[in-house]
Parts: sequence; C-alpha cells; structure tokens
Amino acid sequence: MIPYGSIPEAEAALGRNLSLAECVWFKYSATKSDYLLYCHNIVFLLVIFSLVPIPLVFLELKRVPFLDPFKIQPKVRLSFDDIFRCYKDVMRMFFLVVGPLQLISYPSIKLIGIRAGLPLPSGWEIFSQLLVYFLLEDYTNYWIHRFLHNQWGYDNIHRVHHEYAAPVGFAAPYAHWAEILILGIPSFLGPAIAPGHIITFWLWIALRQIEAIDTHSGYDFPWSITKYIPFYGGAEYHDYHHYVGRQSQSNFASVFTYCDYIYGTDKGYRYQKKILQKLKEDLANGDEQKGGSYKTQDLKSD
Ligand SMILES: [Zn+2]
Ligand SMILES: [Zn+2]
Repeated sequence: MIPYGSIPEAEAALGRNLSLAECVWFKYSATKSDYLLYCHNIVFLLVIFSLVPIPLVFLELKRVPFLDPFKIQPKVRLSFDDIFRCYKDVMRMFFLVVGPLQLISYPSIKLIGIRAGLPLPSGWEIFSQLLVYFLLEDYTNYWIHRFLHNQWGYDNIHRVHHEYAAPVGFAAPYAHWAEILILGIPSFLGPAIAPGHIITFWLWIALRQIEAIDTHSGYDFPWSITKYIPFYGGAEYHDYHHYVGRQSQSNFASVFTYCDYIYGTDKGYRYQKKILQKLKEDLANGDEQKGGSYKTQDLKSD
C-alpha cells in the first residue's frame, strides 16, 4: 500500500512530479494491501496458463498444412481428450499446490524486501533484475533437473513431467507436486538475491511461465522473436529432452543453452543436429536414397 494520501502528497515526498506510469500505479494500488497486490500473481498464472498455449494447441488439433513443417515431432498428435486431461491435471495442481504456496509465501516476500510503493523502477532496473532472475533460475534449475534424472528422482518424481514425450504448451507445468515445490526454489532465488518492485516480480513470474509454455509448445518457428535472444534454448532444444525421455542426459537447462554446453550435456543433441543437417543437405542435393525421413523421432541418438 502506498503511504501517501494523494498524488500531490506523493510528489511532495519524492520532490518531483510523478510520471504517467507512477500516477496510474498510484491510482491502482493506493487502496490495495501489499498482500492483495502479491496475490495478483495467482490470477496472472491462471490466465497465462489458460490462454497462452491455446493457439498452438489449436494447431495441434486442427493440423494447418502449411505450418506442419514446423511441428517438431510430426508423427505424434495428441487428441483433444489428451490435452484437456493435461489442462485439468495442471489446474488441480494450481489449486492444491501452487495457489496455497503463493498465499503462504507472502511473509518471505516481505522479508526479502520486495516493495510495492513509489517510485517505480526504471526500465533498465527491471531489465537487469529480470536478466539476473533468469540466469540464476536457469543455473539452479539445471542442477536440480539433472539431479532428478537419477534413478530415484526420476522414478519417484520427475517421470510425471516426462509422460509427454512430445509436449504441448499445457504440459509445461505438468509435474509431480514435489517437483513443483522443489522448482519453486530457483524461481524465488533471483528475487531473494536482487529484490525489486512487485511489478518486476509479476513480470518475472509471467515471463518465466510464458517461456516454459514456449519451450513445451511442440513447434519451432524460424521467425520466432525468441531466436534473437542469445543462448536461448527454445522449443526444439527442450523437445529433444522430452523425446529421449527417461534416459535423457541431454538438454537439462530450462531457458538457455550455456549450462548444457559448459557441462557437456548437450552432446547427444548436437550430434543429432549434425546428422539432421547432413540428411537435409543430402535431400537438397537430390540424394533421396540417403535422405529418407529426417524427422526428429526417426533419429533417437542419445
Ligand atoms: Zn527431464
Ligand atoms: Zn519439460
């Protein structure tokens, strides 16, 4: 809650005029408690999870021929029932685990110093904090995910997330409740180390979820804006991890590719890419005998 009764009072306290964004924020948040502002995250999570995957799920069900070449595992098609079951299971997890976790974690948000007042952070401050959050989450998620691929971790927890060998967007948060809890740690690590404004926190939770939906979308479009993000893994990168499944010792990272490169866990993936490229070149050269089918699921190599 903002500790000023009016905009002039806030301007007097800050010693300057409020920006347009700050005036809007004042009007929106002045009468809302910090707890209520924090709980907006639950609504954002539900809305983003319910809406963002829909366009590509529609493609999955309808099969638009000119977009078929961008389907990463073209031989696998999920039915409406499969996809709706996934959606229902994740929603149940939201209401039973994610929502309550958000509600009770508020004291930790206050403890680490996430603020909701004025002034608002600059664009540069938001960008640099989000970058730190993504890098920290990526690094810690890499090691936790890699750990979950040991026999005990996989059999008891992580196998649930791997039920979808060819994922769709709704499968991004589809996981055992224990995995949801464990992977909450990397998500909170960045804000705990570099706490910012609640708006930055909202953006972090929203962007992280959109990124997870993108990497589980099952489609890899060459014109995607994410192709311009340095070291971004993307859908094809993570899809390979799901495709190989239980034995996968490749592509553990959640967002970027550098951890897998540094720790040598992208060798199977890079080998497969090299073979695919060679086959494509053979096809382009008219050597169809060599080329054959070069879709991902014909080339299990890890
Ligand atoms: Zn995995
Ligand atoms: Zn996944």
